[in-house]
Amino acid sequence: MNEKQRIINDLVIANRILAREEVVDAYGHVSVRNPANPHTFFIARSLAPELVTADDIVELDLEGNPVNGDTRPLYLERFIHGSIFEARPDVLAVVHAHAEEILPYGIADGTPLRPVIHSGSFIGAHVPVWDIADRFGDTNLLVANVEQGRDLAKTLAKNNVALMRGHGFASAARSLIEVVRMSVYLPRNARALSAAVRLGGKIKSLSQGEIDARNRGYSPYSTETWRAWEYWANKCGCGHMVTKPEPAPDKK
Ligand code: MN
Repeated sequence: MNEKQRIINDLVIANRILAREEVVDAYGHVSVRNPANPHTFFIARSLAPELVTADDIVELDLEGNPVNGDTRPLYLERFIHGSIFEARPDVLAVVHAHAEEILPYGIADGTPLRPVIHSGSFIGAHVPVWDIADRFGDTNLLVANVEQGRDLAKTLAKNNVALMRGHGFASAARSLIEVVRMSVYLPRNARALSAAVRLGGKIKSLSQGEIDARNRGYSPYSTETWRAWEYWANKCGCGHMVTKPEPAPDKK
């Protein structure tokens, strides 16, 4: 398996995990930057993530155009991915989804989504909310062109997650494993926070020091992180597809 095949294989696994963990359903998508060309990325054609195989992966430039003359229908909101890759050279993988648990935090003023559980630390201390209406007025709420994608990427700025008002979220990370993990724990963190709000009283979020401690020494191929990837891959029926690159990048 060469590097391109391996990254596409991992992208298929990521699609299946996000579906199995109910981060995505018929809608929502995950992408990964092309390791051989930072100006393109891989993403599925317009298809529910649950159904994605390697044959469904297309390569797009950062403005959302297919680079290999692929004529199959594409995700309408592919601009989310290209624009974040364009704005953030450090980002290698992006997820967009509509997970229900996070939606209240894009709608209600006054209760920001913050990390409140240890596995939620990866979302970072600040989760900005992007409102498409601020610049584009009345739309169908979808990120349907490069200008809207770039505006979202501007709100995301250096953060790991941006909520999209009345719609969903976009998350960005340094690897597929990391963006999948963050996107799985983001709704769980929101659920815990919502439950705590219902209990009443003051909400105690993770401190910046706690967030930093969780992220220190992070590697996508560390035993701890790999354990989650293997577990989720098995759970969604992709255990046989898991391949760990040798030597693992962090051991070079
Ligand atoms: Mn969407």
